[in-house]
Amino acid sequence: MGLSVDVICCTGCGFEAAIAPSRMRISYLLPSGALFAAKRALGWCSKCEGFTDGESVPTPEGIRGQIESFIRSEHDRLKGEQSWVDRILQRRIPEVEPPADLGEALVVFSKRTSKARCLSCNSPGYEGLQGGGGKQIDYPLHACGGRFEWKDPDPSGPLVTMRGQVLVLSVEGEVLHRKLV
Ligand SMILES: [Zn+2]
Ligand SMILES: [Zn+2]
Repeated sequence: MGLSVDVICCTGCGFEAAIAPSRMRISYLLPSGALFAAKRALGWCSKCEGFTDGESVPTPEGIRGQIESFIRSEHDRLKGEQSWVDRILQRRIPEVEPPADLGEALVVFSKRTSKARCLSCNSPGYEGLQGGGGKQIDYPLHACGGRFEWKDPDPSGPLVTMRGQVLVLSVEGEVLHRKLV
């Protein structure tokens, strides 16, 4: 079964671009060889002159949040595994160490200063979309100076099949490996 295509248009000049649905699995290859999974962001690529999937560069705050939630859930799991004897003796739940790859990712992405890249052409001329809620997109603006806006879905519009990709990126966002699935 096909999926409908979303369209974004420019309110200044009438430029329209289709956003084909896609599945994407992205991970960064860390210096140790571990893979760190990350998300993508829809944005405007000035080189592709269109809307593409791009990096959502992991932030130190985001990675710290992942570490904290890992520690919390591991702690809860260990607590759940305690026997009644452990509880009576008030045995301490062992300290949970954060996984090495998350610790490494935190160090790597705390240092990254380069811009997010387009995952289609891999250029750094990429701006994630920032919406003001609803259909309006606040940032970036089109080259004509007009604002972008999501169009209402067209029920009679074309249907496409979802494409899938698995990407491995360097910690600077260069595509090292791309596989279509
Ligand atoms: Zn325009
Ligand atoms: Zn591009």
